[in-house]
Amino acid sequence: MRAAGRFVADVLTELKSRAAVGVNLLKLDAIAHEMIRARGAESCYIDYHPSFGASPFGKVLCTSVNDAVLHGLPHDYVLRDGDLVSLDFAASVDGWVADSAVSVIVGTPRPEDLRVIETTERALDAGIAAARVGSRVGDISAAIGQVAAEAGYSVNTDFGGHGVGRTMHGDPHVANNGRPNRGLPLRAGLVIAIEPWFLESTDKIVTDPDGWTLRSADGSRGAHSEHTVAITEDGPIVLTARARG
Ligand code: MG
Repeated sequence: MRAAGRFVADVLTELKSRAAVGVNLLKLDAIAHEMIRARGAESCYIDYHPSFGASPFGKVLCTSVNDAVLHGLPHDYVLRDGDLVSLDFAASVDGWVADSAVSVIVGTPRPEDLRVIETTERALDAGIAAARVGSRVGDISAAIGQVAAEAGYSVNTDFGGHGVGRTMHGDPHVANNGRPNRGLPLRAGLVIAIEPWFLESTDKIVTDPDGWTLRSADGSRGAHSEHTVAITEDGPIVLTARARG
């Protein structure tokens, strides 16, 4: 799974560097698609068609801009100064999946956008630190939820982290809030995606007419940070860790 993690990290590093004012979301998807082809990897998204999806996703990347926060379907949109864009990417390499997301601001940042991004990143770090043999899934959820609460964000627990393996989504569900010392015991060898996402002033979301893109109910912006993490006797290993930046 390290190979898959490294590849997903490389793609997000590239996309972060290419996301800029004037760049079309479809261009970012095309860059990711070309990297998948060059690596001989497989997209986890393109044929993805869960019960809540209107049709197969059809793209290899999620691009959620401003008040969109999850599952953003790339479309013909050119990034503008100050846009907050969340990039979520999962791929399979040699039959094993990794899943990761990062939020970036293109052009001039708004302070409240920097704050929500920084908080999701800190919540992700807290969740990873809690992913230890002998703890439980609820300890990860509680660690994430505590960071959110201290920053004043309310947490939506409808969508959260998940087991990762041969497929993108497996048990357990890793909610972004919860009670410590509850849920599945964490054992060495378990690999999970931990993915806090917070909205600036609500925990309610609505689905776009495209059937995928999840948007805040009040128009406030949101951010999303995700890593795929292996739980080992020696502590958590962040398989999708990027070089700085
Ligand atoms: Mg993801």
